[in-house]
Amino acid sequence: MSLNIGRIIGIPVRIHYTLWLVLLLIAWSLAEGYMPQHYPGLGATTYWAIGIFSAIILFISVFLHELSHSYIAKKNGLPIARITLFFFGGVSEMSEEPKDAALEVRMAAAGPLASFLIAIVLGGFWYLTFLVNGPIPIIATLYYAAFLNGVLGAFNLIPAFPLDGGRVLRGSLWRRSKNLLSATANATRVSEAISLLMMAVGLFFVVFGDFVNGLWIIFLGWFIRSGAETSLRQTRLTESLAGVRVGDIMTKELLSVSPDASVQQLVSDYFLVHPHGGYPVVSNAKLLGVVTMSSVRSIPREKREIERVTEAMVPYERTVTVSPTTLAIDALQLMAKNLVGRLVVMDGDRIAGMVTRGDLMKTMKARQDLGLWDHTHV
Ligand SMILES: [Zn+2]
Repeated sequence: MSLNIGRIIGIPVRIHYTLWLVLLLIAWSLAEGYMPQHYPGLGATTYWAIGIFSAIILFISVFLHELSHSYIAKKNGLPIARITLFFFGGVSEMSEEPKDAALEVRMAAAGPLASFLIAIVLGGFWYLTFLVNGPIPIIATLYYAAFLNGVLGAFNLIPAFPLDGGRVLRGSLWRRSKNLLSATANATRVSEAISLLMMAVGLFFVVFGDFVNGLWIIFLGWFIRSGAETSLRQTRLTESLAGVRVGDIMTKELLSVSPDASVQQLVSDYFLVHPHGGYPVVSNAKLLGVVTMSSVRSIPREKREIERVTEAMVPYERTVTVSPTTLAIDALQLMAKNLVGRLVVMDGDRIAGMVTRGDLMKTMKARQDLGLWDHTHV
């Protein structure tokens, strides 16, 4: 889906396949439609050159927009896992949410600001070239590139998640109410109103003739709507586990399995008797791996008598471990990233316990039910 293109200021940068499609589409529509219409008589090669150059400038612009977000984040000590460039701009994947409202506002505003700045610079060059009667292909390219950057900045300022404007809005609300969750909920409401409005306008266009642009607006509305919901869910999740550490909720009284037990023994003495879905495999107080229901399922029934646990388990090298001080929210993300449902908790060399997705869900639900999650941020 995405292609790695390298690192900049220490952050890996990837290009999502949708960006290639959009760049191609832009080059093509400029070369075959817009440019011949507005600057007639230049010849097909020149039109294609303008189209391709404009697409390249757009690509660089999107990149600079995203880089400016990441730059502010990095400068303020927020780690950025990677930058993915895709068709409306991009996403800087933060491993953490901004810690304070002012930082969120600054970080979100940096992108559109960069886009407007690029638009002004390119616009300036366009104007100069125009004044001195420079070559028409260059005038056309500069004009279009400046225009696109203006659109990029303006579009991203729409106050709706997950666009930058939505984050600026949330940051400002958060600053005022000091409550991240209520700020997110209110910003989500605004986003939903905007997305509904966009879909309604799009539908109007579709019905009254402008089919393609109408569909485009409906799609953007839908994109905003789903992004807003994801943000709200993410914030709820983070908030409901705020301050909880793995050590607080892990299962400490662990039953462990010997590596020499047969898979059949494991089934009849453990899985059929105890409620747990996985066990550490331990020999001489040393963790050798983890065995789960799915490791058992991968062994054919007729082989379970002879096959030993050590052959069925996920070995230590591939076992995901955390420490008792790991934040619960980080543990949840680790599970999602590694596609596992349980983590072994290690206190140095010692097995301290195990934590499962179920444990985390139970904690979240309990804290939500008790109203412990809606706490105020300062
Ligand atoms: Zn942005």
